[in-house]
Amino acid sequence: MKALTYTAPGRFELIEKPKPEIIDPKDAVVRVTLSSICSSDLHILHGAVPQAEVGITVGHELVGVVEAVSSDVSKVKPGDRVAVNVETFCGECFYCKRGYVNNCTSGGWMLGCRINGGQAEYVRVPYADNGLTPIPDNVSDEQALFVGDILATGYWAAKISEISEEDTVLIIGAGPTGLCTLECVQLYKPQRIVVCEADESRREFVWKHYPNVDVVEPTECLENLKSLTEGRGADRVIEVAGGEETFELAWRCARPNAIVTIVALYEKEQILPLPWMYGKNLTFKTGGVDACDCDKIIQLISEGKIDTTHLITHRYPLSRIQEAYTLFANRADGVIKTAIHPD
Ligand SMILES: [Zn+2]
Ligand SMILES: [Zn+2]
Repeated sequence: MKALTYTAPGRFELIEKPKPEIIDPKDAVVRVTLSSICSSDLHILHGAVPQAEVGITVGHELVGVVEAVSSDVSKVKPGDRVAVNVETFCGECFYCKRGYVNNCTSGGWMLGCRINGGQAEYVRVPYADNGLTPIPDNVSDEQALFVGDILATGYWAAKISEISEEDTVLIIGAGPTGLCTLECVQLYKPQRIVVCEADESRREFVWKHYPNVDVVEPTECLENLKSLTEGRGADRVIEVAGGEETFELAWRCARPNAIVTIVALYEKEQILPLPWMYGKNLTFKTGGVDACDCDKIIQLISEGKIDTTHLITHRYPLSRIQEAYTLFANRADGVIKTAIHPD
Protein backbone atom coordinates (compact mmCIF):
# COMPACT_ATOMS: atom_id res chain seq x y z
CA MET A 1 0.00 0.00 0.00
CA LYS A 2 1.01 3.67 -0.34
CA ALA A 3 2.07 5.45 2.86
CA LEU A 4 3.43 8.95 3.40
CA THR A 5 6.63 8.26 5.32
CA TYR A 6 8.97 10.38 7.41
CA THR A 7 12.19 9.31 5.70
CA ALA A 8 14.50 12.01 7.11
CA PRO A 9 14.18 15.37 8.88
CA GLY A 10 12.72 17.74 6.29
CA ARG A 11 11.48 14.90 4.07
CA PHE A 12 8.21 12.98 3.70
CA GLU A 13 7.91 10.48 0.83
CA LEU A 14 4.95 8.51 -0.49
CA ILE A 15 6.37 4.98 -0.58
CA GLU A 16 5.16 1.38 -0.85
CA LYS A 17 4.83 -0.46 2.48
CA PRO A 18 3.22 -3.75 3.48
CA LYS A 19 -0.39 -3.51 4.60
CA PRO A 20 -0.48 -3.41 8.45
CA GLU A 21 -1.48 -6.52 10.36
CA ILE A 22 -2.89 -7.20 13.79
CA ILE A 23 -0.12 -7.83 16.32
CA ASP A 24 -1.93 -7.48 19.67
CA PRO A 25 -5.28 -8.78 20.99
CA LYS A 26 -6.55 -5.19 21.35
CA ASP A 27 -5.66 -4.11 17.78
CA ALA A 28 -7.84 -3.22 14.84
CA VAL A 29 -6.85 -2.53 11.25
CA VAL A 30 -8.71 0.30 9.54
CA ARG A 31 -9.00 1.05 5.82
CA VAL A 32 -8.56 4.81 5.58
CA THR A 33 -11.36 6.57 3.69
CA LEU A 34 -10.38 10.16 4.53
CA SER A 35 -7.44 11.78 6.30
CA SER A 36 -6.16 15.29 6.92
CA ILE A 37 -2.94 17.19 7.53
CA CYS A 38 -2.34 18.79 10.92
CA SER A 39 0.21 21.41 11.91
CA SER A 40 1.76 18.70 14.14
CA ASP A 41 2.63 16.86 10.91
CA LEU A 42 4.55 19.95 9.81
CA HIS A 43 6.37 19.98 13.17
CA ILE A 44 7.51 16.39 12.44
CA LEU A 45 8.54 17.37 8.91
CA HIS A 46 10.66 20.18 10.34
CA GLY A 47 12.35 17.79 12.76
CA ALA A 48 10.76 19.61 15.74
CA VAL A 49 9.18 16.51 17.32
CA PRO A 50 12.05 14.60 18.98
CA GLN A 51 9.97 11.50 19.72
CA ALA A 52 8.93 11.11 16.06
CA GLU A 53 10.66 8.08 14.61
CA VAL A 54 12.23 8.15 11.17
CA GLY A 55 10.51 5.55 9.00
CA ILE A 56 7.01 5.90 10.43
CA THR A 57 3.96 6.67 8.33
CA VAL A 58 2.68 10.11 9.33
CA GLY A 59 -0.91 11.27 9.81
CA HIS A 60 -3.19 11.15 12.86
CA GLU A 61 -6.45 12.75 11.69
CA LEU A 62 -8.54 10.20 9.88
CA VAL A 63 -11.69 8.20 9.45
CA GLY A 64 -12.13 4.83 7.84
CA VAL A 65 -13.79 1.43 7.80
CA VAL A 66 -12.77 -1.36 10.15
CA GLU A 67 -11.04 -4.04 8.12
CA ALA A 68 -10.16 -6.51 10.89
CA VAL A 69 -10.28 -6.73 14.69
CA SER A 70 -8.35 -8.85 17.14
CA SER A 71 -9.74 -11.11 19.90
CA ASP A 72 -10.16 -8.53 22.68
CA VAL A 73 -11.90 -5.84 20.64
CA SER A 74 -15.62 -5.54 21.42
CA LYS A 75 -16.70 -1.99 20.52
CA VAL A 76 -16.32 -2.27 16.75
CA LYS A 77 -16.47 -4.98 14.09
CA PRO A 78 -15.31 -5.27 10.48
CA GLY A 79 -17.35 -3.03 8.21
CA ASP A 80 -18.03 -0.35 10.84
CA ARG A 81 -17.28 3.25 9.89
CA VAL A 82 -15.04 4.80 12.53
CA ALA A 83 -13.23 7.98 13.54
CA VAL A 84 -9.69 7.33 14.75
CA ASN A 85 -8.40 9.00 17.93
CA VAL A 86 -5.04 10.80 17.83
CA GLU A 87 -4.31 9.45 21.30
CA THR A 88 -3.56 5.85 22.11
CA PHE A 89 -4.63 5.00 25.64
CA CYS A 90 -5.07 1.85 27.68
CA GLY A 91 -8.13 2.88 29.66
CA GLU A 92 -6.84 1.12 32.78
CA CYS A 93 -3.86 3.00 34.24
CA PHE A 94 -3.96 5.65 37.01
CA TYR A 95 -4.39 8.53 34.54
CA CYS A 96 -6.83 6.83 32.16
CA LYS A 97 -9.17 5.91 35.05
CA ARG A 98 -9.37 9.62 35.91
CA GLY A 99 -9.94 10.72 32.29
CA TYR A 100 -6.41 12.09 31.87
CA VAL A 101 -5.75 9.90 28.86
CA ASN A 102 -3.13 12.25 27.45
CA ASN A 103 -0.86 10.98 30.20
CA CYS A 104 -1.67 7.28 29.79
CA THR A 105 1.40 5.41 31.02
CA SER A 106 1.35 3.12 27.98
CA GLY A 107 0.08 5.55 25.34
CA GLY A 108 -0.07 9.20 24.37
CA TRP A 109 0.44 10.55 20.87
CA MET A 110 1.64 7.40 19.11
CA LEU A 111 -0.15 7.29 15.71
CA GLY A 112 1.81 9.03 13.00
CA CYS A 113 4.58 9.87 15.48
CA ARG A 114 5.96 6.79 17.23
CA ILE A 115 3.95 4.17 15.29
CA ASN A 116 2.63 4.16 11.72
CA GLY A 117 -0.19 6.64 11.15
CA GLY A 118 -3.01 7.27 8.73
CA GLN A 119 -1.80 9.16 5.65
CA ALA A 120 -1.88 5.77 4.00
CA GLU A 121 -4.34 3.23 2.69
CA TYR A 122 -4.54 1.24 5.96
CA VAL A 123 -3.55 1.79 9.59
CA ARG A 124 -3.22 -0.44 12.65
CA VAL A 125 -4.92 1.06 15.73
CA PRO A 126 -3.83 -0.26 19.17
CA TYR A 127 -6.36 -0.32 22.06
CA ALA A 128 -9.04 -0.18 19.38
CA ASP A 129 -11.92 -0.03 21.89
CA ASN A 130 -10.53 3.32 23.08
CA GLY A 131 -9.02 4.53 19.82
CA LEU A 132 -12.03 4.09 17.53
CA THR A 133 -15.39 5.87 17.61
CA PRO A 134 -18.24 4.43 15.50
CA ILE A 135 -19.72 6.98 13.07
CA PRO A 136 -23.55 7.09 12.91
CA ASP A 137 -25.18 6.66 9.48
CA ASN A 138 -26.31 10.30 9.35
CA VAL A 139 -22.74 11.60 9.81
CA SER A 140 -20.48 11.78 6.73
CA ASP A 141 -16.74 11.09 6.66
CA GLU A 142 -16.10 14.81 6.19
CA GLN A 143 -18.26 15.66 9.20
CA ALA A 144 -16.37 13.14 11.34
CA LEU A 145 -12.85 13.85 10.05
CA PHE A 146 -11.72 16.09 12.93
CA VAL A 147 -13.39 14.22 15.81
CA GLY A 148 -10.26 12.43 16.99
CA ASP A 149 -7.84 15.36 16.99
CA ILE A 150 -8.59 19.08 16.60
CA LEU A 151 -12.28 18.77 17.45
CA ALA A 152 -11.42 16.66 20.51
CA THR A 153 -9.00 19.44 21.43
CA GLY A 154 -11.62 22.16 21.00
CA TYR A 155 -14.15 20.17 23.01
CA TRP A 156 -11.67 19.56 25.81
CA ALA A 157 -10.56 23.21 25.88
CA ALA A 158 -14.14 24.44 26.16
CA LYS A 159 -14.95 21.84 28.82
CA ILE A 160 -12.05 22.63 31.14
CA SER A 161 -12.67 26.38 30.78
CA GLU A 162 -15.83 26.09 32.95
CA ILE A 163 -17.87 28.46 30.77
CA SER A 164 -21.20 29.84 32.03
CA GLU A 165 -23.96 31.75 30.22
CA GLU A 166 -22.88 35.07 31.77
CA ASP A 167 -19.36 34.83 30.40
CA THR A 168 -17.48 36.77 27.77
CA VAL A 169 -15.14 34.21 26.22
CA LEU A 170 -12.06 35.25 24.26
CA ILE A 171 -10.56 32.73 21.82
CA ILE A 172 -7.11 33.72 20.55
CA GLY A 173 -6.40 32.18 17.15
CA ALA A 174 -8.83 31.28 14.35
CA GLY A 175 -6.82 28.53 12.73
CA PRO A 176 -8.34 25.04 12.46
CA THR A 177 -8.07 24.28 16.20
CA GLY A 178 -9.32 27.74 17.15
CA LEU A 179 -12.36 27.24 14.93
CA CYS A 180 -13.04 23.82 16.46
CA THR A 181 -12.75 25.46 19.88
CA LEU A 182 -15.24 28.10 18.76
CA GLU A 183 -17.70 25.39 17.67
CA CYS A 184 -17.47 23.81 21.13
CA VAL A 185 -17.54 27.05 23.14
CA GLN A 186 -20.86 27.82 21.42
CA LEU A 187 -22.34 24.71 23.06
CA TYR A 188 -22.11 26.50 26.43
CA LYS A 189 -24.08 29.53 25.14
CA PRO A 190 -21.87 32.22 26.72
CA GLN A 191 -23.17 35.78 26.61
CA ARG A 192 -20.46 36.81 24.15
CA ILE A 193 -17.64 35.22 22.17
CA VAL A 194 -14.72 37.27 20.86
CA VAL A 195 -12.24 35.74 18.42
CA CYS A 196 -8.83 37.38 18.03
CA GLU A 197 -6.92 36.58 14.84
CA ALA A 198 -3.99 38.30 13.13
CA ASP A 199 -4.66 37.01 9.61
CA GLU A 200 -7.22 38.99 7.62
CA SER A 201 -8.51 36.10 5.50
CA ARG A 202 -9.08 34.06 8.65
CA ARG A 203 -10.94 36.95 10.28
CA GLU A 204 -13.14 37.07 7.18
CA PHE A 205 -13.71 33.33 7.45
CA VAL A 206 -15.00 33.77 11.00
CA TRP A 207 -17.22 36.71 10.00
CA LYS A 208 -18.71 34.69 7.20
CA HIS A 209 -19.39 31.48 9.12
CA TYR A 210 -20.02 32.80 12.65
CA PRO A 211 -21.95 36.07 12.30
CA ASN A 212 -22.80 36.20 16.02
CA VAL A 213 -19.15 36.29 17.08
CA ASP A 214 -17.03 39.45 17.54
CA VAL A 215 -13.81 39.32 15.53
CA VAL A 216 -10.82 41.49 16.44
CA GLU A 217 -7.18 42.00 15.51
CA PRO A 218 -4.51 41.45 18.20
CA THR A 219 -3.71 45.18 18.36
CA GLU A 220 -7.31 46.10 19.25
CA CYS A 221 -8.10 43.00 21.33
CA LEU A 222 -7.47 44.34 24.85
CA GLU A 223 -9.29 47.64 24.29
CA ASN A 224 -12.17 45.86 22.63
CA LEU A 225 -12.53 43.39 25.52
CA LYS A 226 -12.48 46.20 28.05
CA SER A 227 -15.15 48.18 26.25
CA LEU A 228 -17.36 45.09 26.08
CA THR A 229 -16.98 44.22 29.79
CA GLU A 230 -17.12 47.54 31.67
CA GLY A 231 -13.34 47.58 31.81
CA ARG A 232 -12.94 44.13 33.37
CA GLY A 233 -11.64 41.90 30.57
CA ALA A 234 -12.65 38.43 29.45
CA ASP A 235 -14.12 35.95 31.95
CA ARG A 236 -12.56 33.07 30.07
CA VAL A 237 -9.61 33.14 27.67
CA ILE A 238 -8.64 30.21 25.47
CA GLU A 239 -5.23 30.66 23.83
CA VAL A 240 -4.96 28.51 20.72
CA ALA A 241 -2.65 30.60 18.53
CA GLY A 242 0.80 29.92 19.99
CA GLY A 243 2.29 33.07 18.49
CA GLU A 244 5.14 35.29 19.68
CA GLU A 245 2.96 37.50 21.85
CA THR A 246 -0.26 35.57 22.23
CA PHE A 247 0.50 34.15 25.69
CA GLU A 248 0.95 37.66 27.06
CA LEU A 249 -2.18 38.80 25.23
CA ALA A 250 -4.09 35.94 26.86
CA TRP A 251 -3.38 36.87 30.48
CA ARG A 252 -3.58 40.62 29.81
CA CYS A 253 -7.07 40.26 28.33
CA ALA A 254 -8.28 38.14 31.25
CA ARG A 255 -10.20 39.85 34.05
CA PRO A 256 -9.20 39.20 37.67
CA ASN A 257 -10.17 35.67 38.77
CA ALA A 258 -10.57 34.53 35.15
CA ILE A 259 -9.65 31.10 33.83
CA VAL A 260 -6.98 31.16 31.11
CA THR A 261 -6.78 27.93 29.14
CA ILE A 262 -3.62 27.38 27.11
CA VAL A 263 -4.06 24.92 24.26
CA ALA A 264 -1.35 26.39 22.04
CA LEU A 265 1.88 24.54 21.44
CA TYR A 266 4.69 27.13 21.62
CA GLU A 267 7.99 26.87 19.84
CA LYS A 268 9.73 28.93 22.55
CA GLU A 269 9.56 29.25 26.32
CA GLN A 270 7.00 31.72 27.62
CA ILE A 271 7.35 34.12 30.52
CA LEU A 272 4.87 34.03 33.37
CA PRO A 273 5.54 37.44 34.97
CA LEU A 274 4.06 36.74 38.38
CA PRO A 275 4.95 40.14 39.92
CA TRP A 276 2.92 41.86 37.18
CA MET A 277 -0.12 39.66 37.67
CA TYR A 278 0.03 39.58 41.45
CA GLY A 279 -3.46 40.16 42.79
CA LYS A 280 -5.07 39.28 39.48
CA ASN A 281 -5.68 35.79 40.90
CA LEU A 282 -5.80 34.00 37.57
CA THR A 283 -6.27 30.27 37.09
CA PHE A 284 -4.18 28.80 34.28
CA LYS A 285 -5.03 25.47 32.69
CA THR A 286 -2.54 24.05 30.24
CA GLY A 287 -1.76 21.03 28.22
CA GLY A 288 -2.49 18.49 25.58
CA VAL A 289 -5.95 17.14 24.87
CA ASP A 290 -7.48 14.36 26.94
CA ALA A 291 -9.27 12.94 23.92
CA CYS A 292 -11.74 10.67 25.69
CA ASP A 293 -15.01 12.40 24.75
CA CYS A 294 -15.14 11.34 21.10
CA ASP A 295 -18.40 9.37 21.50
CA LYS A 296 -20.04 12.48 22.93
CA ILE A 297 -18.61 14.70 20.15
CA ILE A 298 -19.86 12.44 17.38
CA GLN A 299 -23.28 12.40 19.05
CA LEU A 300 -23.30 16.23 18.98
CA ILE A 301 -22.42 16.15 15.27
CA SER A 302 -25.21 13.67 14.63
CA GLU A 303 -27.65 16.02 16.42
CA GLY A 304 -26.49 18.96 14.29
CA LYS A 305 -24.95 20.84 17.24
CA ILE A 306 -21.37 20.81 15.90
CA ASP A 307 -20.43 21.09 12.24
CA THR A 308 -16.86 21.49 11.01
CA THR A 309 -17.26 20.50 7.37
CA HIS A 310 -16.76 24.11 6.21
CA LEU A 311 -13.19 23.90 7.58
CA ILE A 312 -12.38 21.57 4.68
CA THR A 313 -11.39 24.03 1.99
CA HIS A 314 -9.31 21.73 -0.26
CA ARG A 315 -9.45 18.07 -1.31
CA TYR A 316 -6.70 15.86 -2.81
CA PRO A 317 -6.17 12.18 -3.61
CA LEU A 318 -3.48 10.39 -1.59
CA SER A 319 -1.22 10.24 -4.65
CA ARG A 320 -1.08 14.07 -4.61
CA ILE A 321 -0.72 14.52 -0.84
CA GLN A 322 2.58 16.36 -1.27
CA GLU A 323 0.72 19.16 -3.05
CA ALA A 324 -1.66 19.34 -0.12
CA TYR A 325 1.31 19.67 2.24
CA THR A 326 2.78 22.51 0.22
CA LEU A 327 -0.54 24.33 0.18
CA PHE A 328 -1.13 23.78 3.91
CA ALA A 329 2.41 24.72 4.96
CA ASN A 330 2.25 27.96 2.95
CA ARG A 331 -1.32 28.73 4.05
CA ALA A 332 -1.96 29.32 0.35
CA ASP A 333 -5.31 29.92 -1.32
CA GLY A 334 -7.12 30.57 1.98
CA VAL A 335 -6.65 26.98 3.12
CA ILE A 336 -8.04 26.00 6.51
CA LYS A 337 -7.94 22.19 6.25
CA THR A 338 -7.34 19.67 3.50
CA ALA A 339 -9.07 16.31 3.09
CA ILE A 340 -7.10 13.45 1.55
CA HIS A 341 -9.13 10.69 -0.07
CA PRO A 342 -8.00 7.36 -1.57
CA ASP A 343 -7.17 7.40 -5.28
ZN1 LIG B 1 -3.01 16.95 15.07
ZN1 LIG C 1 -3.70 4.40 30.39
